[in-house]
Amino acid sequence: MAEETEIKIQNLTKFYMLVLLKSNDTVTGYFILKKLQKDLEKTASPTYVYDFLKSLKSQGYVEDVAKSKTSKRSKGYQLTPQGHEFIDRIFIRFNNLIEVAIQSRLEICASCGVRLYDNYHSEKIGNKDLNFCCKHCAKAFKNEQL
Ligand SMILES: [Zn+2]
Repeated sequence: MAEETEIKIQNLTKFYMLVLLKSNDTVTGYFILKKLQKDLEKTASPTYVYDFLKSLKSQGYVEDVAKSKTSKRSKGYQLTPQGHEFIDRIFIRFNNLIEVAIQSRLEICASCGVRLYDNYHSEKIGNKDLNFCCKHCAKAFKNEQL
């Protein structure tokens, strides 16, 4: 079974864990739990956090860092170069998602440029669906096209 199972980031808890991994040299499960509580006011179960760290580790995205050469006690988890790449991919994906969401909320009238809210007028002009704040703007727009 060589097929790679890409880790899915389907909630804010996991996303924030990636942010923490990316912005700190090493993180422990305990540190993550504390930060989730403090910054997101989310109480994640330790099992949930450790399972996610484990799956990141099994993909080679993080590694355990020992406290010292003589000690086996873990200092925490650290991102590998592949882990950095993985997180960058996720961040770009989220960034695109957010941009699309913001753009679609910031629709403007194709004629006068005012911001459109829930009530707006749509019309197919040429082969394009265009949005206007009102019928008058749509009419003005059509007249300009002639
Ligand atoms: Zn308008």
